[in-house]
Amino acid sequence: MEVKVTRVSEPGTRPKDEDLGFGTVFTDHMFVMDYEKDKGWVNARIEPFGDFSMSPASMVLHYGQAVFEGLKAYKTEDGKIQLYRARDNFARMNRSSQGLCIPEIDIDFVMDALKKLLKIEEAWIPETPGTSLYIRPTIVATDPFLGVRASYTYKFFIILSPVGSYYAQGLQPVKIWVCEDHVRAVRGGVGEFKTPGNYAASLLAGEKAKKEGYNQVLWLDGIELKYIEEVGAMNIFFLINDELITPMLNGSILPGITRFSVIELAKKWGIKVSERRISIDEVIAAADNGTLQEMFGSGTAAVVSPVGELRYKDRVIHIGDGTPGETCMKFYNAVTDIQYGKAEDTQGWIEVVE
Ligand SMILES: *Cc1c(COP(=O)(O)O)cnc(C)c1O
Repeated sequence: MEVKVTRVSEPGTRPKDEDLGFGTVFTDHMFVMDYEKDKGWVNARIEPFGDFSMSPASMVLHYGQAVFEGLKAYKTEDGKIQLYRARDNFARMNRSSQGLCIPEIDIDFVMDALKKLLKIEEAWIPETPGTSLYIRPTIVATDPFLGVRASYTYKFFIILSPVGSYYAQGLQPVKIWVCEDHVRAVRGGVGEFKTPGNYAASLLAGEKAKKEGYNQVLWLDGIELKYIEEVGAMNIFFLINDELITPMLNGSILPGITRFSVIELAKKWGIKVSERRISIDEVIAAADNGTLQEMFGSGTAAVVSPVGELRYKDRVIHIGDGTPGETCMKFYNAVTDIQYGKAEDTQGWIEVVE
């Protein structure tokens, strides 16, 4: 399939790097293709970024049949565009699609289309350290139909957004609230898929956490409210007694690509790393006996995000001295050095866009 390119007549201008936030500014073009029953994915095109026209009866608007991804393109000091584990994102998108009865995409085709789009939008990729071009691939169900079934038609699109440095002020430890009133996902549900409903389901708890002065929610398992799952849009790690622990993938946790990167690097560095069940009681006990050394989240947006305070019921636990832990920083530096081309990509994680 050819990718038809229609360019804007007047390219827009990228805001100054220091004015960039997250997810508010979009580039001139987007990639779009449609899925039709019996034909598969057709009509691949790069066209000016703009509104879609769709029926108010479109199935995605009623039943939420959709999946998405989040990844970034980075500009190196010598002007190259680099993608980080992008194929892993599209492979995960296909797994999410399977879970939501959405047809899969051809990863090689979509990678080529993304690279073509990135070449066209090269001027939109910010260059200041820490900034990047956020990439949001999405698939939505488009049948105009109010019955409940899997749609026969879909739209796949990739939009791009230049984003500022998550840590313009340096790595700030965040405050996390352990949620006991709500759960994010349950075993056998859709928690391991990047599908919009999971995020809608997390909003109320997020609002409650904010009211209590906390940045994010730490979710416990949906059955016993005992075992730790993850944080909002990040996976979670604990360093206890020199063992790096992250909850094992159990079907309700999103399999983060940054999570895999942290685990791979930890193994390479000889850190003892365990993917296992970890209860909130074990974390509290470790805090009490002084063996809880570090706690941090992992995700594409921040890479790693140190946790400085954890609240569970009436307990408030402080972790570290208000600065990011040594291990957390080591992961941050190693991953970002690879992403920005400052360190050799020994893991085979980088694809240069040429
Ligand atoms: C996207 C996401 C993550 C992190 O995944 P990365 O691939 O590392 O960005 C973790 N948890 C949830 C719920 C997510 O949506």
